Amino acid sequence: MSIVVIGSLNMDMVVRTKRAPEAGETLFGQEFALSPGGKGANQAVAAARLGAEVTMIGRVGKDSFGSGLLEVMKQEQVHTGYISQSESQSTGVASIVLDEEGENRIIVVPGANVEMKPADIEALESVIRQAGIVVMQLETDLNMVEAAAAIASRHGIPVILNPAPAQPLGDELLHQVTYLTPNETEAGILAGIPVESVDDAERAARILLQKGVQHIIVTLGSKGALIVNASGSLHVPGFPVQAVDTVAAGDSFNGALAWQLTRGKTLDEAVRFANAVGALAVGKAGAIPSLPRLQEVKQFLQ
Ligand code: ADP
Repeated sequence: MSIVVIGSLNMDMVVRTKRAPEAGETLFGQEFALSPGGKGANQAVAAARLGAEVTMIGRVGKDSFGSGLLEVMKQEQVHTGYISQSESQSTGVASIVLDEEGENRIIVVPGANVEMKPADIEALESVIRQAGIVVMQLETDLNMVEAAAAIASRHGIPVILNPAPAQPLGDELLHQVTYLTPNETEAGILAGIPVESVDDAERAARILLQKGVQHIIVTLGSKGALIVNASGSLHVPGFPVQAVDTVAAGDSFNGALAWQLTRGKTLDEAVRFANAVGALAVGKAGAIPSLPRLQEVKQFLQ
């Protein structure tokens, strides 16, 4: 069964510099890199690298970054037929300045990502209804996400919503979400309570359960993840690894979770596997370059 990821595609432009410039100042930096990203693209590639059949629905600009992102998705065996190219908006970009102290300053211009509206997704109902599972995040237009969840729910297709970046969500949307996957910060924001421990995460998840979500999976960084649903709660511990770079940890987790669920695994099994994929992703630098392939995960779990 295939996975339909509805989400963002961004080009990250990363500049390394000794220090960030003051207003009106020009500096020579040390290094520049372009790297494909966006939570939607990362999650699609994470699932595809494990062997999933993935279709991505999204929008980029009619510019070189957009063409580059389409090329990357194709190389990763993600179906790109429903990634449209905007006539008026640029591809989503993140301008990232990294200084010597490891501080970063980031400006995200969502561009074409937020141009996809409810009518655009309604036109793709036939694609959504054939999915084994739908995976979404919150870097696109919220009304579009709501419309997509409504379509999936109408056809009985399970929905994973990774609520990142966190923002208030209506009860109607929460009712249509099968699996909500916040990290601790996002769980706290969505539930309206501070989350500083696994117990707090469980309290937050119970609040979200009452709002109609079927399963809440709070990712807990190195501590793994917590599953809370009507049957109770279960802490699935993480795998100890030397963390190199936590970028895309959550994205790799979500892609892996989706793939496991479409293969008929139980939620407990799926979360354990997703923890392994997340652990492997934090062991390597970068977003897409850090996403493991199935063989690597199998070896890790032996
Ligand atoms: P996000 O990247 O969205 O903030 P988390 O930090 O909770 O999300 O990470 C997502 C998942 O990645 C975790 O549930 C866990 O499985 C794995 N993970 C993250 N950090 C580590 C770590 N330091 N060691 C092992 N696994 C990790």
